[in-house]
Amino acid sequence: MAAEDQFKKVISHAKEYGYVFPSSEIYDGLSAVYDYGQNGVALKNNIRAYWWKAMVQMHENIVGIDAAIFMHPTTWKASGHVDAFNDPLIDNKDSKKRYRADVLIEDYVGKLDTKIEKEVAKAAKRFGDQFDKEQFLSTNLRVLKYKERGSEILARMGKSLGNEDLADVKALIEELEITCPLSGSRNWTDVKQFNLMFGTKLGASAESATDLFLRPETAQGIFVNFSNVQKTGRMKIPFGIAQTGKAFRNEIVARQFIFRMREFEQMEMQFFIQPGTQKEWYDHWKKTRLNWHLSLGMGPDNYRFHDHDKLAHYADAACDIEFRFPFGFKELEGIHSRTDFDLSSHEKFSSKKLQYFDHERSESYVPYVLETSVGLDRMFLAVFSNALQEETLEDGSQRTVLKLPAVLAPTKVAVFPLVKKDGLPEIAQSIVNELKWDMEIAYDEKDAVGRRYRRQDALGTPFCITVDHQTAEDQTVTLRHRDTMKQQRVAISELSEVLKKEVSMRTWLERI
Ligand code: ATP
Repeated sequence: MAAEDQFKKVISHAKEYGYVFPSSEIYDGLSAVYDYGQNGVALKNNIRAYWWKAMVQMHENIVGIDAAIFMHPTTWKASGHVDAFNDPLIDNKDSKKRYRADVLIEDYVGKLDTKIEKEVAKAAKRFGDQFDKEQFLSTNLRVLKYKERGSEILARMGKSLGNEDLADVKALIEELEITCPLSGSRNWTDVKQFNLMFGTKLGASAESATDLFLRPETAQGIFVNFSNVQKTGRMKIPFGIAQTGKAFRNEIVARQFIFRMREFEQMEMQFFIQPGTQKEWYDHWKKTRLNWHLSLGMGPDNYRFHDHDKLAHYADAACDIEFRFPFGFKELEGIHSRTDFDLSSHEKFSSKKLQYFDHERSESYVPYVLETSVGLDRMFLAVFSNALQEETLEDGSQRTVLKLPAVLAPTKVAVFPLVKKDGLPEIAQSIVNELKWDMEIAYDEKDAVGRRYRRQDALGTPFCITVDHQTAEDQTVTLRHRDTMKQQRVAISELSEVLKKEVSMRTWLERI
């Protein structure tokens, strides 16, 4: 299936099966805002819990907080967001469409990557078993030319953006002959900076109201609570503070479904370390976070690291974990070495000491920080789009199956009586009543059993249990596996143990 069709299928499937709805749809929706439905909320909660357990529960030296969305407005002055949380925008004069100038350029470089992938595919076909991908990538002249071109373009863009040389960003767009995807023209305005924070007001009367911002990232709630947590939790460096919560950005172009939203949720962890140790912790967290993603079994080929060419004002090293979304490799998570920028800046603006006294070294210092930041909605899209598959079965029929990792699936098991009589519904109900203590269960007695299986396949339910006439005789049921469609006979008394092993967080977390 073409990538574009696959993506459309993802969006319509998400709606049809109660995962994601456009916000306020009865009023024709609100641009780039989405609501999660009955299954979506469960998938989202499970992803959040999987992250929280891996980061907080499994690390003795990481604790969590839940800071408010509203923060004192000086926070955003200190963090640099008031002055520097901008995206470069450019308008096409013919289509009147607005774009992020850096994204237009990155998409151009993305096309060079696609050309490289095509060269690799061609060569793999030509050389068959003899093909050595690494060697090909490092020696093929055409590939090297594309790579060099891509790096040159990104380096120039990074430099121009870093120097605030917006005229050069426009010049680059013109030199690359980038056209508007809508009008096809190269009739561009100048590049301008656009601040992404949403403003709002606090207070009842117009005169006394204070201007506030909706937080554009959750990280600052952690920094301003650094001393509270360190002192009350008697935390010793190195230690981390984790938080999940909503963030808001007035994105210039919010497309691609829940990939880029104006209201979204982040899962962030700030790890406080001794200055000078940032390189080793940067490598540590890159590896640990990638392993977390890999533990979900979505395939190592779907991830890659991308080092930042343009470092944010607070960082001395930064990279993204990119995922192969239906529209190509894009950022899923950011790992940033934030130096002591945030804590030092909050010290300056608040005149409060945000330091750590190191008893072993008998000295105080402002800790350095390593951040891991992953978008919950992007993670949802990665999991959901990767899971959705169309299969042609042996008998030639088609099935739509949502191969969600069992640990994340909204419903773990669906229980069916084969027929609605002979006491089978009662046995099925008793199985539901037993299993529901430990996992999310559905009960379904409508339609032929084959159709019920298909319905659960499309919903992403990893296991189905069918109660039939043999059950009444020997207390066994059929356990059907979603991905392989294999069926096995299992004693009712063993169901709970067998299923708990498959769906428990522990089983999956042990793979990290
Ligand atoms: P991008 O380059 O895609 O705009 P970013 O580099 O600005 O993202 P960060 O500030 O590093 O993103 O935020 C950390 C994570 O939050 C991202 O890796 C992403 O998963 C998520 N995220 C950021 N912006 C959005 C958004 N508008 N909608 C959904 N998720 C987002």
